[in-house]
Amino acid sequence: VAHGISLALLAGWVLFAAGAALGSHGPVPVGPLNDWGMTLISVGAAVSVVLRVALVATQRRVWAPLAAGLVSYGIGTALWNLWIQHMPEPPFPSVADPFWLAVYPLGYATLVLSVRACTGSLSASVWLDGLIGTLSVAALGTALLLSPIVDDATGSVAAVATNLAYPLFDVLLAAAVVGGFVLAGGRLNRSWLMLAAGFIAFLAADVLYLKSTVEADYVTASVENLLWSGGLVLLARSAWAPAPPPASGRGRLAAPVPSMFAFAAVGLLVHDHFNKIDGVSLTLAVSTVAVAMIRLMHTVREERRLWDTGRLARTDELTGLPNRRALADALEAALDEGDGAAVGLLVIDLNGFKELNDTLGHEAGDQVLRAVGLRLHEALRPEDMLVRLGGDEFAVVLAECGSSAGAEVVAIRLLRSLEQSFPIMGISVQIGASVGVACHPEHGRTPSELLKRADVAMYRAKAARTGVERYDGSQDGRSAERLALAGQLGGAIAAGEIVPYYQPQVDPTTGRTTGVEALARWEHPLHGVLGPGQFLPAVEQSNLSRLLTLSILEQAVAHCAEWREDGLDFPVAVNLSAANLVDDAFDGDVAGILARHGMPADRLTLEITENIFLTDPERALTLLHRLKAMGVRLSLDDFGTRHSSLSHLDRLPVDELKIDRSFVAEVTSDQRTAIIVASTVELAHRLGLHAVAEGIEDVGTWSSLTAMGCPAIQGYLVARPMPHAAFHAWALTRPAVRRATGPSQSPSSSAIDGAAPLTRNTTSSAAT
Ligand code: C2E
Ligand code: CA
Ligand code: CA
Repeated sequence: VAHGISLALLAGWVLFAAGAALGSHGPVPVGPLNDWGMTLISVGAAVSVVLRVALVATQRRVWAPLAAGLVSYGIGTALWNLWIQHMPEPPFPSVADPFWLAVYPLGYATLVLSVRACTGSLSASVWLDGLIGTLSVAALGTALLLSPIVDDATGSVAAVATNLAYPLFDVLLAAAVVGGFVLAGGRLNRSWLMLAAGFIAFLAADVLYLKSTVEADYVTASVENLLWSGGLVLLARSAWAPAPPPASGRGRLAAPVPSMFAFAAVGLLVHDHFNKIDGVSLTLAVSTVAVAMIRLMHTVREERRLWDTGRLARTDELTGLPNRRALADALEAALDEGDGAAVGLLVIDLNGFKELNDTLGHEAGDQVLRAVGLRLHEALRPEDMLVRLGGDEFAVVLAECGSSAGAEVVAIRLLRSLEQSFPIMGISVQIGASVGVACHPEHGRTPSELLKRADVAMYRAKAARTGVERYDGSQDGRSAERLALAGQLGGAIAAGEIVPYYQPQVDPTTGRTTGVEALARWEHPLHGVLGPGQFLPAVEQSNLSRLLTLSILEQAVAHCAEWREDGLDFPVAVNLSAANLVDDAFDGDVAGILARHGMPADRLTLEITENIFLTDPERALTLLHRLKAMGVRLSLDDFGTRHSSLSHLDRLPVDELKIDRSFVAEVTSDQRTAIIVASTVELAHRLGLHAVAEGIEDVGTWSSLTAMGCPAIQGYLVARPMPHAAFHAWALTRPAVRRATGPSQSPSSSAIDGAAPLTRNTTSSAAT
């Protein structure tokens, strides 16, 4: 049907054109040919499009306005050609004119709708481009066509208005055609092109007609009639052309065409400076430029937003540092450009940040993270890249670090930069960190490999409390194991798999047992005995510190009560985590445990380290004073490992100093260290504190400490940590330690004699 009708229309038009061309010389008289030809073609076009709307469901809404417009136009043509024209004095304007004019707004509607259908949904900038095109063409059109005609027009107001209405509508349509063309980015389908061509034919005919009326030489069956009817045929056909699905995105013309139109409008304004143009054109040209400026602003905003979202996606909001995504890109780039040169990656994790966050609140935590970010940043070279990975984890890409040793040097420098405390919300907070180092190509070749390995190294640094660790392939398996262990921890504590092993402290002169330290061991059903290095970090990270400490305390106090029954009367020492000291219920828990086992408070020593100052020192100090008031002994562990030890000493209500192994080990080899240790022993003595030297591994060290007058020593040479039963037996074999024994034996020989075999015996079960 579609084909039939449109072919018939086309054939009709060809016949009509041929007849018109032959003119008065042809076989058919020109008058009736015109009348009937024009009428048939316009009615045919109307019927064709009405059928299209009635029969085809797709895009019905697009074509409905045109159908109505063409019906109206057909009525106008029939009225004119068959009736009004033949009146003795045809009026102008006549009843046909409103019918004809109606096709313009309706056709306009179809044009706009079909552009929509052709391009899919459009962004604001595309609509602005379309508006620029429309306005600029309207400005040019009115300036070029309308003004000269208006200047020449004569006749009644209604006649002039009607005459003007046609070209005015035509200009608007042409503008819409151009606007639509721009909207679609020059990428339109056949249907739309025919629609546009039809309206352009109308425009040409109307302009010619207007000129001819102005010049008063209208000839029937002229070119105008051919153009009008041709336009109608095109409009009718366009409705039947297949419309492809809308294309997304923007076409090639999108960028240059709107600017061309804006320039044309500017050209018109410049022209106006020399040769005044009419007000309508001027207004339109100014509007074009105004819209072009809005478009420009919009573009700038859009670009900025795009840039911002791009930047935000790669920036950590809290610290303003680049984030994990940016790190991946930077690493990738560094590995690509580096040409095999060493690229270092540091993964930095803050120690005790969780507790800090829990006690001081998130606000303080955020402040710490920002301050740490700043500190680290200042300690780096400009070419190094610091990022925040998330949480309390940072990372650094070292573009040129020479080797993993070079990267390690930077890592140490970063740790140093954190040594100075941070003033946060009125208190001074100290925060340490653990750094893992991995280096390309030594430890990995891809960004993800390096990241994983630096992470493994960081965990090791955390567990071993060494501050910095380089990745070590031989350790990789163990760290994977550790991750698996973390998940079983809660259950293991509840099941009593984590138990205290006991390492004695003895008086180096008498060999008498002065105390014992409980050291946690996980007697894992599959993996055997695991040392604290393998599970403590996970305990702290999974918030299980309270559970673990209470479990060890309960067991240690119970065992201590057993020993007392055998006359072994010395205090048992239990290590605390920083988290225990920001737990306000802790002293109550301790009191409960002591009461349950009928233990005097002074038989319990709680070992603390200076890392309690990392979080909430005031709160920790209050708690320590309450424990002290209960009669519990307090011991400052790892004394000497931090530069601020002396400054902390006068604030802490401690009874004992444990001189760190790192000093003790060098007593025999380093004169200066020997002086430091001797002075520390002296210092403790003067302050009325007990002193314990940790990590005695050889006889020379033992003698040195004896000479220094150190009241207690602890170390592998005396005994390795051992299970409860082994320790109980060990303690009983040493008559010197019994409460009710006589004078002791020769100190050094007895201690060494007594300890040496046990050392070997317990190595297999208790070594860490
Ligand atoms: P620490 O409190 O400094 O404990 C002393 C560590 O030195 C123990 O390691 C012990 O086995 C080791 N050690 C003793 N004598 C020698 C020696 O002569 N030479 C050498 N090289 N090492 C010696 P361990 O048992 O692996 O414990 C490591 C750390 O884990 C402890 O350091 C302590 O801070 C922590 N820890 C142990 N048990 C617990 C616990 O129940 N709770 C908490 N919060 N921490 C614990
Ligand atoms: Ca300890
Ligand atoms: Ca220690």
